This record gives sequence, C-alpha cells and structure tokens, in this order.
Amino acid sequence: MTSRLLPTYARTDLAFERGEGAWLTATTGERYLDFGSGVAVNALGHAHPALVIALTEQAQKVWHVSNIYRIPEGERLAARLCEATFADTVFFCNSGAEALEAAIKVARKYHAADGHPERFRIITFDGAFHGRTLATLAAGGNKKYLDGFGPVAEGFDQVPFADLAAVRKAIGPGTAAILIEPVQGEGGVRVVPPHFLRALRQLCDEHGLLLVFDEVQTGIGRTGNLFAYQNLGVTPDVMSSAKGIGGGFPLGACLATAEAAKGMTAGTHGSTFGGNPLAMAVGHAVLDVVLAPGFLDGVRHKSILLRQRLAEIQDRYPGVLAEIRGEGLLLGMRAVVPNGELVDALRAEKLLTIAAGDNVVRLLPPLIVGEEDIADALVRIDRACAAVSRAHARPVETGAVA
Ligand SMILES: *Cc1c(COP(=O)(O)O)cnc(C)c1O
Repeated sequence: MTSRLLPTYARTDLAFERGEGAWLTATTGERYLDFGSGVAVNALGHAHPALVIALTEQAQKVWHVSNIYRIPEGERLAARLCEATFADTVFFCNSGAEALEAAIKVARKYHAADGHPERFRIITFDGAFHGRTLATLAAGGNKKYLDGFGPVAEGFDQVPFADLAAVRKAIGPGTAAILIEPVQGEGGVRVVPPHFLRALRQLCDEHGLLLVFDEVQTGIGRTGNLFAYQNLGVTPDVMSSAKGIGGGFPLGACLATAEAAKGMTAGTHGSTFGGNPLAMAVGHAVLDVVLAPGFLDGVRHKSILLRQRLAEIQDRYPGVLAEIRGEGLLLGMRAVVPNGELVDALRAEKLLTIAAGDNVVRLLPPLIVGEEDIADALVRIDRACAAVSRAHARPVETGAVA
C-alpha cells in the first residue's frame, strides 16, 4: 500500500506498536532497543508510569483553555524552570522551531525596545540546525533545506564553526545576538569548546548583544545537567528548549532573563496551543523525574560507562569507527564507512540509532536507560561493527605492479 503521507521523509520500513522503557516492539512483534529516543525526545523512555499517570489524570480534567485565560499549571512550570535556570520568564510553545522563533523575536524586540530596531541580525554557525520554519532554516543556513523555498529570511549571518575571529568580523551595527547550540546535534554531535562559548559571552557583553543558546537537543538532562550551559560556566540571555521537555508530548519553551525579554509585552507573540494544561501536566511530570535527587548523577555515570566501552569498540574496529564524542547521553560515533550503513547494521542487530551530519551515528538512549540495557546495546554495537568490518574487508594489497 502506498502511503498518503507527504513523502518528505525517507522512512525506514518499520513501525512500532508499543514501548516500555528503552524498548520498542515492532508491528512484527520484534523488540528493538531504542537508542534514538525519537531523536532525543523520549527522555524518560516509553510509557513511563509517571508520564502515563500525569497525562491520563489531566486528560480527565481539562485539556485546553487557550492563553486568553490564566493557566496555573503553566505558571507553576515556568516558575520551576526559572528556579532551575538563569531565566526569569518562559514562553511555552509546541516544538523546537517555535521555541527558536520565539528566541529570535525576543532578541530582535530587545533592541527595538531600546530604540534600535535596525539591530536585528543574528550570528549563527556552520553546521547548525534550528528547525524547519522559514526563519529557523535561514538561521541554520543549510543550503539543501533552503533550496526552492523562495527568498531566504533576512537577518542571519553564518560564520564557520568555533571561529572567534570570524564572529568578531561578523559583528556590526545591525547585530542583535549570537545563536548557538552548545553541542551541535543534527550537525554531528559537535561539541563547542567551552572556552569558545565563554569568549562569545564576553563578545556579547562588549557589544551589547544577546547570547542565545539553542538547547532543544542538549536540554532536560541530556548532557548530564538540566541544561548544557550549566556544565560550562557560561550563561545565555535567552534559551530554547523542546524535544525532551515533554517526554514525547509536543512541548517547547523559550526561556529568557527579564532584561532580554523586556520588549515582549502583551500582544507581541502568541500560540494557540502553547502551554495548554495537558502539555503542562506532562512537563511537570518530566521535571519531577529529571530533577529528583541523583537522577542527573545517574545520567553522568551512565555516560562514562557507555563512553569507555565505546572507546574499546572503536579500538577494535578502526576501519568502522573514527571517533567517539559528545556529552552525557548525547553521544556520536563518527564513522569511517558511510554512517547510513552503520545505522542499518545496528538496526539489523535490533538497536535503533540516529544518523547525523559529519558522518556521525548518534546514540541518544532515554535518560532512564538501565546499565543492563547499556551492556546489551554495547554487545549489539560490537556485532554491528564486526559485520560492517567484514563487509568492507578487502584483499590485502600486494604492492605488485601489474
Ligand atoms: C530538533 C531541533 C530543533 C527543531 O525542533 P522541532 O521540534 O523539530 O521544530 C531545533 N534546534 C535543535 C538544536 C534541534 O535539535
């Protein structure tokens, strides 16, 4: 049967009907170990009892009321996020791209409120990914995604990855902000050096720019702290969150200091669904788990475990794996062979992973993943590397000239 879905995804011919923890059961009955988490979304795995309870209990009360009324669950969730971060204020939306749209608008409006509407340009980085709306595509600057969609939204200046001199050169009288992912996710789990992020903070302070962190993929415990900036000693002015924040329920958030958000008065932005009671109930349940004492320590511990063993596997298969990198449970295996081939081999071993840029295979297990699941995954990774290695084995060159 051909699908009536718009064919914008090259989908793998695999469908799932249920999940539990780090495991998914396909419609064929086969079980897969999920180290993709729906691209870093299922932070608490599948069917986490606390999320199931939160969702079903709220579903029996009220789902949606609109932002023309107060939403106490949202006021409480915003307060909790502010309590746990640098932020003073939160805007809720439904996706990562929307969280970035809000962040871009906050940054522009900040300067407009200061009497400088001409300062709307935002510096972004090569390899970035900020979403698929027209503005976030322009911010990401990926030619392949922009092609054929008309004029590229104005106001984004892209510079090479981690190139401070290029950032300095790009700053002009029209610059409003610098936007960066502390670890590029889609770009290939490229960790931005902390000293570079600190230098960006300094540049922003010198030039009166806002520093905007896109933590859509790195946030909500993924890198071993609630947000990646908390590992770094660098604090942004504005930050986007999504993916893990709803544990699978569509939820995004833009966090900001009161100063950065000073232009965002009544009527300047909105969302019909954003922050509705159903989403807020799930958001609270995710935070309850992630902020519980010891949970983030556990993420860091599991990260070390996984990384050490991955390094051993890399040593055994230098013809398959070139590098292991990342933070927390956002890990990348840069492949020697085409990364899609490795993803396929891993899936053949019933381990789900996600391809990324720079020929990387991402490992994004749910944060609740057990040590026995990690051990299980490592056996599968070893077997997949062995299979790929065999497939690429070539007769040894003799050096003889024909
Ligand atoms: C996934 C992602 C986005 C876009 O999120 P959507 O929910 O798909 O709109 C933006 N920024 C980063 C860093 C992401 O990983």
